[in-house]
Amino acid sequence: MRIDLHTHSSASDGTEPAEVVVAQAARAGLDVVALTDHDTYAGWPAAVAAATEHGVAVVRGIEVSCSHKGISIHLLGYLPDPGHHGLDRELARARESRVTRIERMVERMAADGIPVTLEEVRAQAGADTTMGRPHIADALVASGFVRDRAEAFADILRNGSRYYVSHYAPDPVRAVELVRAAGGVPVMAHPFANRRGWTVGDDVIEAMAHAGLAGLEAAHRDHSEDERVHAEALAARLGLFTTGSSDYHGAGKGNQLGENTTTPKVLARIEEQATSGVELVRP
Ligand code: AMP
Ligand code: FE
Ligand code: FE
Ligand code: ZN
Repeated sequence: MRIDLHTHSSASDGTEPAEVVVAQAARAGLDVVALTDHDTYAGWPAAVAAATEHGVAVVRGIEVSCSHKGISIHLLGYLPDPGHHGLDRELARARESRVTRIERMVERMAADGIPVTLEEVRAQAGADTTMGRPHIADALVASGFVRDRAEAFADILRNGSRYYVSHYAPDPVRAVELVRAAGGVPVMAHPFANRRGWTVGDDVIEAMAHAGLAGLEAAHRDHSEDERVHAEALAARLGLFTTGSSDYHGAGKGNQLGENTTTPKVLARIEEQATSGVELVRP
C-alpha cells in the first residue's frame, strides 16, 4: 500500500485541479492520496468524484495556516467536518486576510519597480482559490519577470524579504482544538523544516500535543536527516504517530507524488480517530 497524505490542487497553490491530482496519484502508483489544500475544502468534491474514476482512495483534508509569535506553522487536518462553524470561520478569516496581504505585498513591490498588479495576481487563481505568494510568483512568470516560482521565492517572495507581509492565522494550539472539535485528526506539517523559515521549539509542539495533536509529519523533503530524526524522537516522547508525504504542488514545485509515504497502520489510526462522519473515500 502506497499512501501520500499531503497534496495541493488549484483550490490553493497547486497548479492542477483536484481531479487531476487524483488521476496523477493513480499514475504514480499510489493507493491512497490526501488532498490538503491551504485553508479550504473547495477541492473536495472533485477529488471525491475522481477517486472512483481512477481507482485511488481519497482522504479529505486541509492544511490550516497557523501563526505562533510571528512564526508560520502548517497544521494538516484529516477528515474534519466542513460544516463545523468554528473551524470554517477561522479558515475564511485566513483566506480573506491572505487577499489583503497580497494587495500590500504587490503595493510594496510596485513601489520598488517590480511590475505586478493585484489584477494580474488574481488572474492566476480561480474564484474559489486560497490566494498565496505562489500566485504572485505565477504573475511574475506570466509577465516574464522571473522564470519560475522557485526563482521568485529565491529572493522577492522569500520569508523575510522586504516585500513580505504576513496574514491572519490562528495560534496552532487553537487550530488543533478546532480540528478536533470538527471531528478531524490534526497532524503538524513539516515541523522542523528550517530551510523554509523559522520553526517553533519543542515546547510549542508539546502544548499542541496536550491540545490533541495526533501526529508529526516526519518524512518530508524540507527536513534534513537530523530534522527527520528529531521529529521521530519527539513524536515517540509525546505519544504521537509520524507520517511521510510529498507536499505535491503540481508543476509549482519539484515535490513528486509518493516521494515520501505513510504506513497503513498510521492511516488506520487516522481513520479510527476521526469522528466527523467524513470517511475515507474508497474507489
Ligand atoms: P503563503 O502561504 O502565501 O505564505 O505561501 C507559502 C507557499 O509558497 C507554500 O505553501 C509553498 O507551497 C510555496 N512555496 C514556498 N517556497 C517555494 C518555492 N521555493 N518554490 C515554489 N513554491 C514555494
Ligand atoms: Fe503551498
Ligand atoms: Fe505546508
Ligand atoms: Zn502543503
